[in-house]
Amino acid sequence: MYHYVSEPPEDADEYRTDLSVPPQRFREQLQYLKDHGFTTINFEDLSLAVTAKRTLPEKPIILTFDDGYLDNYQYAYPLLREFGFTGTFFIVTEFIDRQLPGYMSWAMIEEMAGAGMRIENHSKTHADLSEQSRDSLIYQILGAQETLTAHLGYGPRFFCYPGGRYDENTIAMLQELDFWGAVTTSGGKWHGFDDRFEWSRLRIRNTTDLPTFATLVEPVP
Ligand SMILES: [Zn+2]
Repeated sequence: MYHYVSEPPEDADEYRTDLSVPPQRFREQLQYLKDHGFTTINFEDLSLAVTAKRTLPEKPIILTFDDGYLDNYQYAYPLLREFGFTGTFFIVTEFIDRQLPGYMSWAMIEEMAGAGMRIENHSKTHADLSEQSRDSLIYQILGAQETLTAHLGYGPRFFCYPGGRYDENTIAMLQELDFWGAVTTSGGKWHGFDDRFEWSRLRIRNTTDLPTFATLVEPVP
């Protein structure tokens, strides 16, 4: 799980710094994955694998990027292409619609989708989706879905809970809207069918050095 792929700005607070992986460090991580035989897959591959409809390569990995930051297009996307990898980008549609500074444009997102990157749903405004009304869940999830579908030409099947916040109603709404799965911010690398709406991830931090990264991505025995 990545967020920013850039050097944190001079005035960055500890949270912003923690969420920022410098491009040089990201490159080293991709080099490590390449040298150690990892293959990037996407959530559709994972879904089909946990329902026994597809076999995965030996060392599969999904690289996710939350929030749709501009640096994802500037640094992560070209580096992924250089290494022949793909990434999954979770987009907050209102941030793109309003052309907020520091976020990608629809043209950039559409270009990445056309180049094999996966674009998925991260809600309309990045609201906390726990303890929300049905109307609010529809607005946040279906609202974003309609915008993404209009831009991509297909409906994303996977969701990322904003701030990692959700409850049973959030999961029920995703199932009602035919999503196949969703990711949390909790740490872990076991992914099965029964936990498909609570798939865990591994946080890559500003301070994650290569030995730590290597331990994190070590396959489950
Ligand atoms: Zn987010």
